[in-house]
Amino acid sequence: MMNERYFRQILLEEDFGFSQEKLGKSTVFIAGAGGLGSPVSYYLAAAGIGRLIICDSDVIELSNLNRQILHSTGRIGTAKTESAAGVLRGLNPEIEIIPKRALIEGDPSELIEDADIIIDCLDNIETRYVINDYSIRTGTPIVHGGINGYAGQISFINPPETLCIRCIFPEPLRKSGPIPVIGATAGVIGSMQALEAIKYLTGSGELLKNKLMIFDGYTFETDSLTVEKNPGCPACGSSAG
Ligand SMILES: [Zn+2]
Repeated sequence: MMNERYFRQILLEEDFGFSQEKLGKSTVFIAGAGGLGSPVSYYLAAAGIGRLIICDSDVIELSNLNRQILHSTGRIGTAKTESAAGVLRGLNPEIEIIPKRALIEGDPSELIEDADIIIDCLDNIETRYVINDYSIRTGTPIVHGGINGYAGQISFINPPETLCIRCIFPEPLRKSGPIPVIGATAGVIGSMQALEAIKYLTGSGELLKNKLMIFDGYTFETDSLTVEKNPGCPACGSSAG
């Protein structure tokens, strides 16, 4: 029987190795339901990922709404996870949406469960280190994304085949107030992250392994930098652990 909901992507099965069935059997852990988490979770829900775990500890604030398009003015003060779950269930009631209002810290195994892939939609390096350590320990890949102003970046992280997040960011950045963001930049980078996850889960297309794709919306220049594992990395290097 033809599946009408996914008809336009099932058209890619014959020539591009796309697989609706594989998406339906997949679990994705989305770390953060903010600027990046919004487009990521919209597109992954729409694509028919079988189980989406969405994790965030925050409530919606007015200043989020220039970029966090999952949420709305009427839901200010409510948990981002509940807001996300309501919207995404409305978009696609055929998949399982699992909201988890929690901080990602310590050992995140119970939060991440058996997810096939983690999408890094975080806004701070300390929490990225937590999912990075989990990734190295369990072999669960991460689609890293980050944004600043008009620019953003994305990489496919899967140690030991690739470098880890800590190879890219060896030290926590010094805090200097809120990061400026145009909402559309989060839309671009988050959409790329969703696409990268879909390719990984279906085993189709080329992944950004050991590549850091930089997008600068101010000049519309893009660059794909080759990045290498740091042998002295405290997380994935030979002396780690
Ligand atoms: Zn590393």
